[in-house]
Amino acid sequence: LKSPYHGGHLEVIVGPMFSGKSEELIRRVTRAVIARQQVAVFKPAIDDRYHATQVASHAGRSIEAVAVRDASAIRAHLAGQGPLLSSPETELPEVVGLDEAQFFGPDLGPLVLDLAEAGVRVILAGLDLDFRAEPFGCIPDLLARAESVEKLTAICTVCGAPATRSQRLIGGQPARFDDPVVLVGAQETYEARCRVHHELRR
Ligand code: ADP
Repeated sequence: LKSPYHGGHLEVIVGPMFSGKSEELIRRVTRAVIARQQVAVFKPAIDDRYHATQVASHAGRSIEAVAVRDASAIRAHLAGQGPLLSSPETELPEVVGLDEAQFFGPDLGPLVLDLAEAGVRVILAGLDLDFRAEPFGCIPDLLARAESVEKLTAICTVCGAPATRSQRLIGGQPARFDDPVVLVGAQETYEARCRVHHELRR
């Protein structure tokens, strides 16, 4: 059960929506659990409270997770199990899984790197590109710093080719480049699309 890396390290799983990032995170975390390793999985919460929840894939598999507001809440949660990163004998989990990592905010980068430095295997899944197909927040930086990167594709809903982008539709129409990320009252959906079929309304 030796990892190919000497100590802690960062594994990043990226791709558009529906590319199987959650499935791959669940697969890796399940194997760590089978290996009797201590595992903590986090996902972003909409409100400020911690709560037990699950990471679920679109295909229906799920694992236990903790919902937290942002990266500092992950730090606080891990510190509750032992003083985080302050002494060598802290009780950090051997594996930390993070789903939808693009939503943990700007402090995610330092947290993830601290964890890897402290010997933790960090498995991070998230969107590499936003709906405009622009690099998403701190994920590109973590792609560069990771020991291992897996870039997954979905299937383009228009042509069936490998999809690398997440098409945002508002009321059935392609979103505009400058549409706000949160639109109150609008009906929005997302589809996986290839480079050819990804559209932004002008
Ligand atoms: P992600 O976390 O990347 O959004 P999930 O792991 O939640 O992806 O879901 C991946 C699953 O979604 C696939 O295994 C498949 O069953 C389903 N799926 C639905 N639409 C698509 C699509 N357009 N391309 C690929 N898989 C899709």
